[in-house]
Amino acid sequence: MSDLLDYHIALNSLLETHQPLEGEEMVGLTQLGQRVLARDILVQHDVPAFDNSAMDGYAINGNACGSWQVVQRIAAGDVAGEGLQYGQAARIFTGAPIPAGTTAVLMQERVVLDAGGQSISYEPGEGRAVIQDGLNIRRQAEELRQGTTLLSRQQRITPAIIGLLSTQGYTEVACVPQVRVTVFSSGNELVPPGEPLTPGKIYDSNRQMISAMLRAEGYVVIDGGILPDELASTRQALERAARESDAIVCSGGVSVGEEDHLKTALEQVGELTQWRLLIKPGKPFTWGRIGDCRVFMLPGNPVSSLVTFRQLAFPAMQRMAGLPPEQARPWQLTARADFSRSKIDTRREFVRVMLSAGPDGVLRVKPMQQQGSNMLSGAAFATGLAEVPPGVPVEQDMELVVYPLTERF
Ligand code: AMP
Ligand code: MG
Repeated sequence: MSDLLDYHIALNSLLETHQPLEGEEMVGLTQLGQRVLARDILVQHDVPAFDNSAMDGYAINGNACGSWQVVQRIAAGDVAGEGLQYGQAARIFTGAPIPAGTTAVLMQERVVLDAGGQSISYEPGEGRAVIQDGLNIRRQAEELRQGTTLLSRQQRITPAIIGLLSTQGYTEVACVPQVRVTVFSSGNELVPPGEPLTPGKIYDSNRQMISAMLRAEGYVVIDGGILPDELASTRQALERAARESDAIVCSGGVSVGEEDHLKTALEQVGELTQWRLLIKPGKPFTWGRIGDCRVFMLPGNPVSSLVTFRQLAFPAMQRMAGLPPEQARPWQLTARADFSRSKIDTRREFVRVMLSAGPDGVLRVKPMQQQGSNMLSGAAFATGLAEVPPGVPVEQDMELVVYPLTERF
C-alpha cells in the first residue's frame, strides 16, 4: 500500500473512484456560474421560433418578377400582416417574421426604390442575377428543434451556456450540489496572517491559497483552521469535519517525521487509500476517506501543496462536483522546452515554468529560477507546470506536456 505510485495511475484511480455528489438542487440563472447540470435540458421551443428575415431589406413573392409592389412594413417584434401575393413585397427588418407567400428576402443594398416608394426592383451583384428560393430567410427550428436535447447532464455551465438557457426561457435548472470542503493547515509553527510572528513561527499560506482556488471554482469552503502537531486533536478535528463536509483538504504533517500525525489520524478514524507518489514535488501526497467524506492530504511545503492540489486533489473533487472524468483532468497542452537539463530524477517532475508563444506560434517553456518546493515565489508567477517523465533529461526543443496554471500567459 505504501509503494510510491506513478502520477498517471494515481490520477486515473482518483477520477474513477470519485463520483458526482448525489441529489440535485435548483439554481437560478444568476447563481449558475461554475455549476454542473444534474439532468438533461430539453429544447422548449424551436429556434428560430418562426421563419424570419436574416437581413434588413424586402420580403418578396416571385423571385423572377423583376419588380415588386411594396404593400406592408414589418419590423422586429411585429406580427406579419397578410400573406404576399405574386409580385408583392414587404419592407422587412432583421429578425422580423416573414409574411406567408415570401419566396426570398432581398437585402436592401441590392434594391432600388422607385420615385414614389411604391415599388422596388432588384440590382443583382456581379454574377448573382438569379434570386435563390429562400434567400435570406431563417427557417423555423433550423437551429434547435423543440423536444430535442439542448444540454446534457454533466455539462459545466459557462456564460455562453447561461445565454443559451435564457434563449429557451429557463430561469433555473437542476444542478449537482456544491461540494463543501473543509480546509485545514497543520503544524505548530504556523500562525495565521494578522497575528504577530514570534520566533520559530511562520505564516500559514497554504490554507489561504487552497481556499482561494476552491472558491474561484465554485466550491463551498469551510475554514478548518490550523491543527497542532498532536494526534488526538487532529483525529477529533478530522472526524468533526467529515460530518459537515463532502471533502477535506489538509496540508502538512503527512511526511515521515514523528511530528507528522495526519496520516495516522486518517488511518484511525477512516481509511487510507494511498500514501506517497513518485512525483516531485509532492511525494507524501495521501488520499482516503472518512465515511462518505473524501480526504486529500497535501504535503506542507507550499509548492508541493499547490502542485498536488492542482494535479490530483482538485481533479478528484471536480468529479464530485459533477464533471465527467475527461473534463475533470487538469487542462494540458504541449510545448517545447526552451531549456535543457542533463540531471535526471527517478520521480516524475512538475517543473514550474513560464509559457510563451514565439513568433512562429509555437508554445515554449522556460523554468522559473526558484524551483525549491518551499519557494512559493517561484511558483506564484509561474504560468504552467511542465511534466518531465522519470529518468529523462530535458533537451532543448524537446516536446513536453504542460499544465497551464493561468488562463493567460
Ligand atoms: P510538513 O509537511 O508538515 O513536514 O511541512 C513541510 C514544510 O512546509 C515545513 O517547512 C512547514 O513549515 C511548511 N508548511 C507546512 N504547512 C504550511 C502552511 N500551511 N503554510 C506554509 N508553510 C507550511
Ligand atoms: Mg509539519
